[in-house]
Amino acid sequence: MKNDKGKLVNEIKLKMPSLSVNESMARSAVAAFCAQLDPSATEIADIKCAVSEAVTNCIVHAYRDRIGVVYINVKLFDNRSVSVEIRDRGCGIEDVKQARQPLFTTDAANERSGMGFTVMESFCDSVRVRSKAGHGSSVTLIKKFEGR
Ligand code: ATP
Ligand code: MG
Repeated sequence: MKNDKGKLVNEIKLKMPSLSVNESMARSAVAAFCAQLDPSATEIADIKCAVSEAVTNCIVHAYRDRIGVVYINVKLFDNRSVSVEIRDRGCGIEDVKQARQPLFTTDAANERSGMGFTVMESFCDSVRVRSKAGHGSSVTLIKKFEGR
């Protein structure tokens, strides 16, 4: 299998209920997978932070009044880029462009700052968001690891 990221060399799939205790497990699992690239401490911190934001969004927004399933698919390509897809089957996002704006939040009542997507963008090389209102969302983070 070959795409613009390179050839797929390794992959893991995770599936978990949208419990907040699973957020730290998810970011640690992705970081452990990335360890095979001998990443720098900064690269590990960056990917953990981005995954944390995306998984938290599934927990607090997608499934805001119920527990649903969060799916994570991590792929490693031979050019040292990693893609992390975080997917839910929750409420979906009405307007993705608006949702991605810094400081935009639909949950100011709970003191959210609306900076999750901005954080993901700043710590990754690219962030793709696909969503259908009422059906769910998928966020794909791509990051190339330079290593130590
Ligand atoms: P913060 O991340 O700073 O705590 P936030 O979660 O509101 O605040 P973002 O992560 O940037 O900010 O998300 C912006 C908005 O996009 C959210 O307020 C929410 O309306 C919507 N959103 C993000 N992810 C999802 C998702 N998986 N399902 C449904 N809506 C989402
Ligand atoms: Mg958020």
